Amino acid sequence: MNCPYCGYHDSKVIDSRDVNDGIRRRRQCLSCNSRFTTYERLQPASLFVIKKDQRREEFNRNKLLTGIRKACEKRPLPTGTVDKLADDIEAELYRLGRAEVPSAVIGDMVMEKLKSLDHIAYIRFASVYREFTDITTLKQEIDTLVGSQAEIPRPASQLPLLPDEKLGVSAKKRRRSRR
Ligand SMILES: [Zn+2]
Repeated sequence: MNCPYCGYHDSKVIDSRDVNDGIRRRRQCLSCNSRFTTYERLQPASLFVIKKDQRREEFNRNKLLTGIRKACEKRPLPTGTVDKLADDIEAELYRLGRAEVPSAVIGDMVMEKLKSLDHIAYIRFASVYREFTDITTLKQEIDTLVGSQAEIPRPASQLPLLPDEKLGVSAKKRRRSRR
C-alpha cells in the first residue's frame, strides 16, 4: 500500500487491531512519516448458504461469529478462541470447494467444535440451532453429552456399524447421530 500523501511504497505498522470483519492497521509512512489507516479483509470466492427454506444467502462470517460469540458469552475461554473457531469453520467451508453449502453443514461444524471446547457453549448453541422446543429435548441432548464423555469420540458423519444395545441407545439418540 503506497502512502496516500507522498506515494512512498513502504510503511510501518504502529497499531493493529481486530475489527468485525478484518484487521485495522494504523500505519506510518517510512518516507514522510504521515499516518494512515488500512483495513485488511479476506475476499474469498463467493459462497452461498442454502437455508432451511431453500433460499440462498451469501455466506456471512459476521453472522457465524455472532452466533458463536453469543454461545460462548462469559465462558472461561482464552481470548481469540471465538475468532479462531469462526476462522477454522470459514476455512473448512472454502476448502469444501463448493459454491453452495447447506446451513445445516455449517451448524454441524460449529456444534462439533463447541462440543470439544465448552459444553455450556455447546448446549447454548444447540438450543438455538436445534430449536429445542421443550425441556425434554434439551435434557436428551445434555444426557448424550454427558454420556459421550466416556466414549471414544467418533466423527459425526460416521454411523455406528451396529446398534449399541448394551448401552440402550434410544431411537431418538440414534436419530440424532444420523444427522
Ligand atoms: Zn509518505
